[in-house]
Amino acid sequence: MTQEKVIIVGGGVVSILTAILYAQKKHDVTIIEKEKNLGGLLSSFTAETGATFDYGTHIPGKTGITELDNILFGNQHQEEENYYRSDYLKSENFFNGEWFKTSPLINTASLPQDLYNQGIIELLTSTGSDEEQHLHSYLTGHFGETLTNHVYKPVIQKLLGEAPDNLSIEVLRTFGLQRLIGLTNEDTIELKKIPKYDSRLGYHSYTQGSPSNYYLYPKGANGIGQWVNDLLAKAEELGVKIMHSTSVIEIHHENNVLNSVSTSEGSSIDCNQLIWSIATPLAYKCANIPFPKTGSPPKFRTTVLAHMQFDRPLEKNFPQYLLCWDPDFLSYRITLYPNISPDSERNRMNNLTVEILTSAEKASDIDTLKETIYGELKQLQVISESANITYDKIQVIKNTFPVLTPEFIESASNLSDKLEESVKGIKVIGRASGKAFFINDLLSQAYKRFA
Ligand SMILES: Cc1cc2nc3c(=O)[nH]c(=O)nc-3n(C[C@H](O)[C@H](O)[C@H](O)COP(=O)(O)OP(=O)(O)OC[C@H]3O[C@@H](n4cnc5c(N)ncnc54)[C@H](O)[C@@H]3O)c2cc1C
Repeated sequence: MTQEKVIIVGGGVVSILTAILYAQKKHDVTIIEKEKNLGGLLSSFTAETGATFDYGTHIPGKTGITELDNILFGNQHQEEENYYRSDYLKSENFFNGEWFKTSPLINTASLPQDLYNQGIIELLTSTGSDEEQHLHSYLTGHFGETLTNHVYKPVIQKLLGEAPDNLSIEVLRTFGLQRLIGLTNEDTIELKKIPKYDSRLGYHSYTQGSPSNYYLYPKGANGIGQWVNDLLAKAEELGVKIMHSTSVIEIHHENNVLNSVSTSEGSSIDCNQLIWSIATPLAYKCANIPFPKTGSPPKFRTTVLAHMQFDRPLEKNFPQYLLCWDPDFLSYRITLYPNISPDSERNRMNNLTVEILTSAEKASDIDTLKETIYGELKQLQVISESANITYDKIQVIKNTFPVLTPEFIESASNLSDKLEESVKGIKVIGRASGKAFFINDLLSQAYKRFA
């Protein structure tokens, strides 16, 4: 086999896996990353207080592909030695002013009685098509007007700043909102034997159902970043070169065949494979190829990560993460680190991260955000009234979360296909490819393509 010169742009976890797969075949591989450190959204940092924070809830699951899992987590012995195992993710959720303590799914029983009764009748009698792709029609067709208006609309408005009318059903999968909790657990178990109800009603506990795989989180005090660092070490052992704090500024090609790239550091690197894991419009610009006509410009939400540590233990000492669907609160997902790492050192750190999806404008007022989140954590009884902040860092990742319209989903995927067709040698991977969103799906896709 001839040795390929492979450049991988962006150093997220999908890129690192791809680098390993190419390097295992003895190709010459370089990762170009614009930041000082690799890992992208799967990074962690340790504060001066000793507490380690991730960029939100990131607890990867086994993919079920043995060879891939061996690369990601090592063999059985290494896995047991280096990772905490969770057979399911322990979560609670808050909606309509109430906690539901055994599932991340919204509990419709928190609605006023008349709306709940009406909502359940509509859910049981709705006859919408499973082929429907537009969110609003899908919701009314599967859950009825009442639950659409009193559950889904306010929640989706909170998360994406839009009503369901112009959105894709992918929103449901992305946020894990495909099912709701209603009726009793016993009735739910019976009804879930019928596919139509199985797709609408969720079990009352995350321990029910049959998850196909389990979840792993690195032992020790370094958070999920340890996983990425271990993978990176594997890549470097295989000879993968890393260029930090560097970007690609030009992509050179002739007769639609890739030649080389120029970097922000002024170097030119020959390559015959360019693996692109970042926004595709930038590749069109760097390669100076016409940008295909798309519909209305895509919209993005800004992610705010509020990392906080307190002077006393968190009030919730069991769930690994919490979901706050309640539209009266800004907080969305809360990662409770002491409950993820049953490691004594980390257990004493009383730290958490609150994720918020909002507009870029709202995210610019950091002081107000911090005060609001601190107040919400008390109101939600995640921390006690007397808890004081001993460390905080508010991280704003601008325009990172796409508002999932059907046009956006189609155009993201088309843009990466057209880019690959335009210049032979370019391949688009990761979240930027528009082919998937979740880590496991993206890693599995990369494995199937490059192994
Ligand atoms: C708010 C939020 C919540 C999420 N929650 C979940 C979840 O619960 N479960 C789940 O499975 N997935 C979740 N995801 C998705 C998950 O984080 C991604 O699937 C995963 O990080 C994919 O990684 P990636 O390698 O494609 O890209 P990224 O992690 O985004 O990495 C891209 C890398 O490219 C670098 N880069 C950017 N621009 C340039 C440039 N010009 N030149 C060079 N390098 C550049 C970046 O610095 C970064 O290191 C979430 C994503 C977001 C935004």
